[in-house]
Amino acid sequence: MSATLTLAKEILSRPSITPDDHGCQQIIAQRLKAIGFEITDYPLNQVSNLWAKRGTQEPTLCFAGHTDVVPVGKEADWLSPPFIPTIRDGKLYARGAADMKSSIAAMITACERFIKKHPSHQGSIAFLITSDEEGTAIDGTQAVLKQLKSLSQIPTWCLVGEASSTDKLADTIKVGRRGSLTADVTVIGKQGHVAYPHLAKNPIHMALKALAEIAQTTWDLGYHPFPATTLQFANIHAGTGANNVIPGILETNFNLRFSPALTPETIQQKVETILQQHDVEYEIKWRLSGKPFYTNVNSKLVQSVTETIERVLGYCPIHSTTGGTSDGRFFAEYGVQVVEIGPNNSSIHQVNEWIDVEELEQLSHLYEAILVDLLVR
Ligand SMILES: [Zn+2]
Repeated sequence: MSATLTLAKEILSRPSITPDDHGCQQIIAQRLKAIGFEITDYPLNQVSNLWAKRGTQEPTLCFAGHTDVVPVGKEADWLSPPFIPTIRDGKLYARGAADMKSSIAAMITACERFIKKHPSHQGSIAFLITSDEEGTAIDGTQAVLKQLKSLSQIPTWCLVGEASSTDKLADTIKVGRRGSLTADVTVIGKQGHVAYPHLAKNPIHMALKALAEIAQTTWDLGYHPFPATTLQFANIHAGTGANNVIPGILETNFNLRFSPALTPETIQQKVETILQQHDVEYEIKWRLSGKPFYTNVNSKLVQSVTETIERVLGYCPIHSTTGGTSDGRFFAEYGVQVVEIGPNNSSIHQVNEWIDVEELEQLSHLYEAILVDLLVR
């Protein structure tokens, strides 16, 4: 069994459901310490965070990832127990196999080989590993970066090991993500009898046209390489259940996935203007769960990763900005160049999550080749 597979199986055996790291970071710290990394733990509430760094020179290439996994779902639907990593037909099955403990194992073995061959490499290598990516993400990467900022330790480049590939390994890399903004809206009417509407104020009638206009709004036409911004209503509720009562309020919420062509402020303004134009009496609460970020395709990191994939695997990756949020957004806020590159993402958060065993080895060699490209010569 290869070093990468052995290590992946070791950390996949730990039931580290968010935010419980369950000892994974201890294993990681031991391995990194043995090859000259200095380890700092940043525990916060229930969350374990690990910062490891080798070297003091700039630039710093930081590997980023998380040891926490989402719950297993219906355990009976797993063909093998989710925390007993099992190989079948060339695939390694376990919760976290693709998202993203295997990537962490690949990063570590890549560093082990790299440092053996290039003990006095240029720049520095770092790891930022959290157990709070799948949860609220408040006490994880974001909190550690705040500390690192105060210590002037913000890295230059960041490779996030999230599952980015679709058909073949690294056929897709993520160079940005859309932002995510949610609005909780309460439309305020006045409850009454349906036979006496002049004594009541119907929030459903008040809201219909405005909500339709919000749903039909074109926000932007995309911002290359981002898809166009989308808005989706997720919940709507009004009424007491009775058919003779005009309800007092209507509650709804919607979420936007938006490109860097827009700011949260411009979106908020547009929505509120529509509500006001339709004379809707409302209360609105906005929640920004991630600003959009984008690492230019001409940046050193995107160029290096793209060229390395072409050289090692023989094909050119797609630069994508699709999918949900990731911890990459927190690095980007500090001006760090961020690329997400990891295994096939078709089984993440599902039962029978897997990673292709051969691609796991390739991933480790790809990370090593990127280290060489950025920190040697
Ligand atoms: Zn993940």
